[in-house]
Amino acid sequence: MRKNIVAGNWKMNTTLQEGVKLAEEVNAAVNAADAKCDVIICVPFTHLAPINGVISGKLGLGAENCADHKSGAYTGEVSAPMVASTGAKYVILGHSERRQYYGENAEILRAKVALALENGLTPIFCIGEVLSEREAGKHFDVVKSQIEDGLFNLSAEDFSKLILAYEPVWAIGTGKTATADQAEEIHAFIRSVIAGKYGQEVADNTSILYGGSCKPTNAAELFAKPDVDGGLIGGASLKCADFMGIVNAF
Ligand code: PEP
Repeated sequence: MRKNIVAGNWKMNTTLQEGVKLAEEVNAAVNAADAKCDVIICVPFTHLAPINGVISGKLGLGAENCADHKSGAYTGEVSAPMVASTGAKYVILGHSERRQYYGENAEILRAKVALALENGLTPIFCIGEVLSEREAGKHFDVVKSQIEDGLFNLSAEDFSKLILAYEPVWAIGTGKTATADQAEEIHAFIRSVIAGKYGQEVADNTSILYGGSCKPTNAAELFAKPDVDGGLIGGASLKCADFMGIVNAF
């Protein structure tokens, strides 16, 4: 069956020293807690190897991105094999900030997903509409296209290795959260899109996380919905107490 997961996305925050300290704190808290979900922190590339050295047990580690090429003359890029060599097991792909600011389209994302999977990394694949799309009632079509164009080239076996994150762009970092009913409505729709392509069993086994201003105060209501399998957490993952408040919402 699918897993409940809470994953932090630190984005471009913390120096290496601050990051290692935060990871040590989260590691101690997660291993002391009787967490009812898997817990992952996704951190800047520079922090991966040092943080892998200070975490253990129940806490998983991921990157926030990887390159769409395996190796070669791509100055400044970090490849999936490099990420895997740090000990990280996950990688966020298709985050709206990557789509919006770095022009990541479906073709680039298909290449990244393939390289992540080839290198044993679990992609946390993000989808979600912008405010104008929601207001125009196009959010169902938008997320369907993002899933079809970014992922439906995969075999059922490979698709089964993914984690999905529905993140309405209008809720990311804005303090505006989708209501639990809005989240459930679209998560159930996403699962039906997956079922249409890969069958009900694959759909039922796919973890679909909600992201967008998730906090200790709203996490329990969101996670109580049958198709919301956890959260991808930005701002609130930068404070151990807030992040643990969300982990403990399960
Ligand atoms: C995110 O960027 O993935 C995110 C959900 O951010 P926040 O929790 O800050 O809205």
